[in-house]
Amino acid sequence: MTTVRERAKVGKYDQGSISKRIEAFFLDNVGKIASRAQIQEVARDPKTREEPENWHQRLSELRTDSGYTILSNRDDRQLKVGEYLLVSAKKRAGAGKRVTCSKSTWKLVLERAKNACEWNEAGVFCHLEQGAIDPVGGGTVKLTADHKTPHSVKAAVNPDDPKQWQALCGRHQVVKKNFWDSSTGKLNVYAIMQAASLADKKLVYKFLKDFFDK
Ligand SMILES: [Zn+2]
Repeated sequence: MTTVRERAKVGKYDQGSISKRIEAFFLDNVGKIASRAQIQEVARDPKTREEPENWHQRLSELRTDSGYTILSNRDDRQLKVGEYLLVSAKKRAGAGKRVTCSKSTWKLVLERAKNACEWNEAGVFCHLEQGAIDPVGGGTVKLTADHKTPHSVKAAVNPDDPKQWQALCGRHQVVKKNFWDSSTGKLNVYAIMQAASLADKKLVYKFLKDFFDK
């Protein structure tokens, strides 16, 4: 069965934060189809008109932390890629409650980690030790507990299971938060490219150009 859905309309949003503006836009358009372009428009700074790079992350937080059910093409095949729909103004109860790892578990995690960051990229470990100086980001390394599976992917977080937790340095907590899509558990390639240097963007642009020319 195909339901006919209205398209969202963009109103005026001068809320002070990106997520507040996106939230207000969706609440004005419950059950209607919102486009990526409309969300980007709403996310713009009302004064400078600057387009923020991290609107996608804010959208993802509205789903995972605020508990709004916002569908995308992944959840509903009637929606095209780049279309989103807020199902209802009601937030899911209990969303955003972050369970943290218990003290005794954290002790076990640190033992396993040998007091070093457990981040690993294609088999290469960070291994920066607690209290060391981070040679990349600067500053003293402070390890904190990270739940390996994003909260929205697996709801049952066990604070007493060391296997569910890892020790991460501050830099890798940021990398994980910004570049991993917490709603899907997949790498957020789009966000990575937005944050990449111009040189890296050019490199990827050339790669894509060659790729699609073939
Ligand atoms: Zn690290």
